[in-house]
Amino acid sequence: MIELTAVEIRDGVRAGKLRARDVCEAHLARIKALDPKVHAFLHVDEAGARAAADRVDASPDKGPLAGVPLAVKDNMCQRGVPTTCASKILEGFRPPYDATALLRALAAGAVPLGHTNLDEFAMGSSTENSAYGPSRNPWDLARAPGGSSGGSTAAVAARMAALAFGSDTGGSIRQPAALCGVVGMKPTYGRVSRYGLVAFASSLDQIGPIARTVRDAAVFLGAMSGHDTLDSTSAPVEVPDYEKELEAGVKGLRVGVPKEFFGAGTDPGVRAAIDAALKQLQKLGATLVDISLPHTDYGIAAYYVIAPCEASSNLARYDGVRFGHRAKSFDGLVDMYRKSRTEGFGEEVRRRILLGTFALSSGYYEAYYRKALQVRRLIKNDFDEAWKTVDVIAGPTSPIPAFRIGEKADDPIAMYLCDVLTVTAPLAGIPGVSVPAGFTPGGLPVGLQLLGKEWSEATLLRAGRAYERETEWWRKGPQV
Ligand code: GLN
Repeated sequence: MIELTAVEIRDGVRAGKLRARDVCEAHLARIKALDPKVHAFLHVDEAGARAAADRVDASPDKGPLAGVPLAVKDNMCQRGVPTTCASKILEGFRPPYDATALLRALAAGAVPLGHTNLDEFAMGSSTENSAYGPSRNPWDLARAPGGSSGGSTAAVAARMAALAFGSDTGGSIRQPAALCGVVGMKPTYGRVSRYGLVAFASSLDQIGPIARTVRDAAVFLGAMSGHDTLDSTSAPVEVPDYEKELEAGVKGLRVGVPKEFFGAGTDPGVRAAIDAALKQLQKLGATLVDISLPHTDYGIAAYYVIAPCEASSNLARYDGVRFGHRAKSFDGLVDMYRKSRTEGFGEEVRRRILLGTFALSSGYYEAYYRKALQVRRLIKNDFDEAWKTVDVIAGPTSPIPAFRIGEKADDPIAMYLCDVLTVTAPLAGIPGVSVPAGFTPGGLPVGLQLLGKEWSEATLLRAGRAYERETEWWRKGPQV
């Protein structure tokens, strides 16, 4: 049962051939067997999962995710379930409410298994910044799964969950999806409600689906999307039926290939896999168009100013007063703040708060924050220019495959540079998906990234599906 896709599980449950409870037990057993090695989960909610599965079995109404085992990134609030953002400062926090996207998945019949590991507050690209230890890549346990949604992508790759929630601020769904050989989509800004998602950088954060196949991602996205009165940044834009156009193919689709996406740092194995994927799309009837996104290289600099600035503001709420960790002994209010935050936050989070606070301070605001916003506009303009000649943009999701745990941990700049191909989409607010595109000669997964204009998720999924149908990379799973 662990090899079934989400759609296969759903169809089996609907047809009365599968019981949600049995599917749930198979996945809980898989987690028990494998997770001591992978460490994808921070908390497994066995009782909650069983109760949800039993409810699905008892209900006559079998929704689009009926009985599908789902892992939840630990920065999404779930009522009564520990939600820590992989931070010591939120240790023991049990939210009194559910995130809207999660509530919608549950209403569709999904069975929540537990919460997955991430870089603390989603700040990182490897899950090594988790206060509870890193997750491991199921394809090679010495390597990182990517991040920050690395627990979610590792869980799906290792067949511990059929679907997982991720959040993407600068690549945190797409990059770990690529490094773990699964599908991950960052939707358009405003597509999915963020009510109940712990905020990192509010002008960038989006929740999105992680799945083994494009079809599963499409169904999951449809279930979670749509306007929410509890999140004023969610857009009142109709949610299409993402499954409907899925098999329509790529004949006539104009696919832009930006030269900037194949820079000097691109791993040769990644390059070869992506070249082959582009040829495949061409064979299927797409037209490849050479394009330029000239400001791509400035994305990292802009992102690593804007995201920390917003984080420094969002994370001000962890003051040891209302919730979260409070230092045991202190000398007055300011000392209480200082000690609680110093003890509660890890090194990378502290670095970002300091960077952001500095960049927003008087005299530096113009030089850093405002400048970064101007660059953000130029990046958006690059994409708008591209849409005049192409329908989608294709390239690698990550310039390198999964790296060794510890390899970049002491060098934040080296870690930031890994995000060069993923930060521009959230800066522009556009959707992007990473689809499995084979392996390097060393056997590590490669992800093909497809980007599109606002609200073009259906087109991206259709293109991803056309490629997937020919290649079926997703059928190959890791030997853990
Ligand atoms: N790796 C990027 C960062 O460290 C992106 C993280 C994310 O998308 N949440 O900020």
